[in-house]
Amino acid sequence: MDCPNCKIPLNQEYRCLTCDFDVNDAPWVIIKKVYAPNELIIKSVLESYGIPVKIASKEVAQMPVSIGPLAEVKIAVPESEADTALELLEELSEDS
Ligand SMILES: [Zn+2]
Repeated sequence: MDCPNCKIPLNQEYRCLTCDFDVNDAPWVIIKKVYAPNELIIKSVLESYGIPVKIASKEVAQMPVSIGPLAEVKIAVPESEADTALELLEELSEDS
């Protein structure tokens, strides 16, 4: 993705070397909820398009058994990338 301030591509750590923008400081939005392990496919697809991805699993301390086929995970991307990410996911679901 590009730096929202400078419009130049971010480096590998998704930081801007010009203005010191760090994508982790940007607002993140949840674009999709999926069941494991589908998040791994989505993550690799989005990252191949240069979109950073964060996975938030619904892990609760009292429920350590959230790893498994029924574990629901949330896919989050930077707000500025949300539209692009959703379009990519739409294309992905059309292909399969
Ligand atoms: Zn910048």
